[in-house]
This record gives sequence, C-alpha cells and structure tokens, in this order.
Amino acid sequence: MTTSIQSIVDTEATLEEADELARIVVADLCDRGITLPTPQTHEYLTDGPRYATGPRVFDAADSINDCFPCGMDVSIGRNVYDTGELGFELACPNCQHEFDPETLEWAGPVSQWYESGAVDQLTCSKCSTSTAFTDWFTPPFGFGNLAFSFNEWFLKREFVDYVSDLLQHQVVWVKAQY
Ligand SMILES: [Zn+2]
Repeated sequence: MTTSIQSIVDTEATLEEADELARIVVADLCDRGITLPTPQTHEYLTDGPRYATGPRVFDAADSINDCFPCGMDVSIGRNVYDTGELGFELACPNCQHEFDPETLEWAGPVSQWYESGAVDQLTCSKCSTSTAFTDWFTPPFGFGNLAFSFNEWFLKREFVDYVSDLLQHQVVWVKAQY
C-alpha cells in the first residue's frame, strides 16, 4: 500500500519566523473546519497526523482517501521535500533541457543546503546559464524551513494559493508517494 503526501512548502520563511507562521496557518485551518485541532487517531494505531481531517476538507481538497493516516502535519526546520517513489528529472529552468540526474552534480548542493541553507547554482551545459539548484527538480522538490503536509489529500490549486496568501510567501506544491 502506498501513501500519498502532498506538501505546501514555504520557501521563504526563516527558521526564526517559522513557529509563528505555522501557528497562524493552523489556527486559520482549524477555524475553517478544514483540519481539527486534535490528532488523527485509529483504534489500533498511533502516530497519525497531528491535525485530523476536518468536516470542511473539501474546501481544500478535490478528494481524499478517508483512511487512517489522512490529515495534516506541520514540519518546522530546514528540510527537503521530495517526490518519494515518483522520482524526478532535472531540467534547466532557463532552456528547459532535461538531464538525467546521474549526469549532474546535484547531491552536493542538496547536502550544502541541509548544512547551511546556502543555495548553490547548477550550470546548464546546453545554454551555459547558472541558476539555483532548487529550481531544477521536475516535478518540483521543496526546500524550506516550514511545510504543511497532507496525507491522502489531493489538494486544490486555490487552496495552495490560499495558504501562500496566509503566509505572504512563495510556496512550492510537492506531490510525493511512499
Ligand atoms: Zn539551459
């Protein structure tokens, strides 16, 4: 059985402001009934998402798998949100040329980002342009200090935009499967 996790990753929040921003978004989503302030629970299982699915979930998602791990988690701290089993390609953000991930040195910049938050550049051998490595992943990966992750919710674009407006930051919508 696979689990779908879609994350809204704030790519601009600093570590210092992440707690307060998380509080604002959680309070808003709980007020609107999209999530509940209580964890997702199951008779025989523990460790469900921190915020259970609320009665107004369909304001945020086109569909959900209404099963045990369904709900929202909040992650604070520098992290990478990848696509899991769905895999990825690397494409130059300037000329869109696609590269086999084996042929580009992307792992170094990822470790560097984990360590320091520094965003290294990758240089495209086709158009000779250097751009932030974070923009090369297709489908997109999220690199950020704050993320809202939704288990088994298939989000609406309007909801992702709504969260971005609440945060007043750019976000990346990451779709993963594990
Ligand atoms: Zn290029």
